[in-house]
Amino acid sequence: MEDYRHVVYWHDTEEVTLAPPLRGNVDCDVCIVGGGYTGLWAAHFLKQAEPALDIRVVEARHSGYGASGRADGFATPTVGKDIQALVNTFGAERALEASKAVGKSILEIGRFTRKHRVDAEYETNGYLMVATDRAQVRRLHEDRELAGLMGASQPPVLSAEETREIVGSPALLGGTRVGGALVNPFRLARGIARVVREAGVTVYDESPCLRVEPGVRPRVVTAGGRITADKVVLATNVHMDAFPPFRRKVIPVWTYAMVSEPLTEEQLGRVPWEGREGLVEAKSLLTCARFTRDNRIMFAGGPVRYYFGGDRRQRNMNRAAPYREIHREFLRFFPMWQDVVFRYAYGGTADVVRDYAPHFGTLGGNISYGYGYCGNGIAASHTGGKVLRDLVLGKDSEWSRLLFVDRGDRSLRSTPSFPPDPLLYVGSRAATRLMDWKDARA
Ligand SMILES: Cc1cc2nc3c(=O)[nH]c(=O)nc-3n(C[C@H](O)[C@H](O)[C@H](O)COP(=O)(O)OP(=O)(O)OC[C@H]3O[C@@H](n4cnc5c(N)ncnc54)[C@H](O)[C@@H]3O)c2cc1C
Repeated sequence: MEDYRHVVYWHDTEEVTLAPPLRGNVDCDVCIVGGGYTGLWAAHFLKQAEPALDIRVVEARHSGYGASGRADGFATPTVGKDIQALVNTFGAERALEASKAVGKSILEIGRFTRKHRVDAEYETNGYLMVATDRAQVRRLHEDRELAGLMGASQPPVLSAEETREIVGSPALLGGTRVGGALVNPFRLARGIARVVREAGVTVYDESPCLRVEPGVRPRVVTAGGRITADKVVLATNVHMDAFPPFRRKVIPVWTYAMVSEPLTEEQLGRVPWEGREGLVEAKSLLTCARFTRDNRIMFAGGPVRYYFGGDRRQRNMNRAAPYREIHREFLRFFPMWQDVVFRYAYGGTADVVRDYAPHFGTLGGNISYGYGYCGNGIAASHTGGKVLRDLVLGKDSEWSRLLFVDRGDRSLRSTPSFPPDPLLYVGSRAATRLMDWKDARA
């Protein structure tokens, strides 16, 4: 089992040629900080709306280096942590409106990949939300009731037998089909970066922004130069807390994944799974599984972790404990795959906010921001790109009115902050244990 490297599997599926870093002083219309999905989709939609705009992106490493290139690849209509949390905060109507917008994004991402020949391994096989104990079966029924109350479509809850006919795991006690897509997240991020470059956007790699100087025309300062722009967009995800207004508004929470070597035909034959659906367990600290294009199995999830001081250094990928837990879970789902060898073991940080829903908005009229997907940002960041476009262009639109946008009672200032460490560290441990306990309660 321990034959793996601590390398992000997706990073091995496409080579990166770095763009030159920022050198000297530049003037432009819009400067975007962060070259993940949020920053890149914002650049894409802005360029589409106003082709003449001079748009520059500064990226600390390269596009797809962050969460966008290490996600598990489930493009789902989830906004923030889950639908229950969203309805509790915003009410059913607004929650449904946002979920629909993100659902539409899943289809549009597919269209984008086809139109621009981005080989993001986009598969429309959706996923199966599964239950492996009685509490989870109950949750599937509750989610279905909630969807009904919201006026959304309500897929039936399948019996254990029906679920196992779709995915032949003896652990499954029930399931619900959910619409969605699977992608290779890194190739998607690299593809969007290529498309925006071709449209005339300049992306500077290896150019971490050191600070943003607000003003009539704000300045983005890097070690190699600075960009003065009419508008700035901050899209740095878990790194938003480097900018003073966002301190303690977002925390980096580690989540881990393992990817096997390609399964042989004989190994594949042991588990009926013809539809290649993604598999997601219906609990807070979810477990998920999927195939890659070359028939590797990816197994991910388990307890998420906040490390003291918000530690997001790559060395946290080298901890053994998360992979032991993932492998144990893998064998619980698939005892017939004892001989499957895992080749990749890696992790990344998701941006968790206190109210479990995205935060988008504008500060001082010319600095916009977007973050807070709570680990569900593949499709939501596409919607977020449209939100940012309209915030930057000062347009009142269906996108700028989505619950993503901080306004009224939910201003950035009034958004609850996380406590400092050690309180946060101790609290996060307790919260994880509480979620574990709730998940385990039958
Ligand atoms: C392990 C893991 C699995 C996940 N799985 C899924 C999934 O299956 N489905 C799903 O919907 N979501 C998933 N997510 C969440 C999803 O990946 C994110 O919500 C999404 O990628 C966020 O995009 P982003 O552009 O906001 O952030 P990022 O992709 O993190 O982009 C931010 C960028 O900003 C750059 N940056 C940081 N600081 C600076 C600075 N000072 N100057 C310049 N650049 C800077 C970073 O290098 C990075 O490239 C997962 C996340 C993780 C970590």
